[in-house]
Amino acid sequence: MKDIESPQFPEIKFCQNCGSPVQAALDAEGKKRMICPACGRVHYKNPIPAVAIFVQNGDGELLLVKRKFLPQAGKWALPSGYMEIFMSPEDNAIAELREETGFEGEIERFIGWYFGYSPIYERVLSLGFRLRVTGGTLQAGDDAADAKFFSLDELPPIAFAAHRKFIHLETGLELDF
Ligand SMILES: [Zn+2]
Repeated sequence: MKDIESPQFPEIKFCQNCGSPVQAALDAEGKKRMICPACGRVHYKNPIPAVAIFVQNGDGELLLVKRKFLPQAGKWALPSGYMEIFMSPEDNAIAELREETGFEGEIERFIGWYFGYSPIYERVLSLGFRLRVTGGTLQAGDDAADAKFFSLDELPPIAFAAHRKFIHLETGLELDF
């Protein structure tokens, strides 16, 4: 495991609970974390969970969105997003599909997970879901530059390793870009 002994969240200077300056200290388990000496709040650093959505149309083509925002702006990827705290992973996946592509969908199955790196959050735990489209009209949402189906033998470079893994698990394709 990567330096659990080093202070986590060194960029956090003040307590998120009471506003006092925090300092690196050992928690009850002896792990070094950023802890508030005033109120005792421990500032944990955890992987950020995200969902990715795999959808194929009747011709076996794969639904991709062109990313509008960082990271990987301008590249193609599965519809995806960071999880909202008040929604289940499944509901997050359905909501992301709707927001990015205009499609209504339902969960077909859980594909798997991928533990990857993020330039922003350091570590991201991505959950892949295969969805079936049940309605709606394909239209790129506000946070996507484009959305369309691609033939599996004409896929563009896929932005994220997590998405390449989910595509591989569902199609057998080896995507090495
Ligand atoms: Zn505090």
